[in-house]
Amino acid sequence: MVKKPKLPGTEWVPDTGDFIKISPDLCSGCGDCVVVCFGDCIKIRGGKAIVVAYETCCECGACWFICSENAIEFSWPKGGTGIKIEYG
Ligand code: SF4
Ligand code: SF4
Repeated sequence: MVKKPKLPGTEWVPDTGDFIKISPDLCSGCGDCVVVCFGDCIKIRGGKAIVVAYETCCECGACWFICSENAIEFSWPKGGTGIKIEYG
C-alpha cells in the first residue's frame, strides 16, 4: 500500500472526538463522500459509509456538502484538536 504524503505545514492534534457522524439509516451507500475525500477517511462497508480515519481529515466538509441524503453530520473538532495549520 502506498503511504500518503502528509500535508506540508500541518500537524494533527489528537483527541478530536467523533466530529463526523454518518447515519446508517440515511446513507444509501452511493460512495460520493468516499470519492471527494482526499484524506481517505471514509469507506463503504456493508453498503454503508463509515469513518475509518479522523487523523487524515483536513476538516474541509466536502463529505457533508456532497451527501444528497443528508446522512453526514459534520461539526468542527473540539477546541485545540484536529488539524493544525502552521501557515495561512
Ligand atoms: S455521500 Fe451520503 S449517502 Fe452517499 S455514501 Fe456518503 S454518507 Fe452515504
Ligand atoms: S471533512 Fe473532508 S477530509 Fe474530512 S472526512 Fe470529510 S471530505 Fe474527508
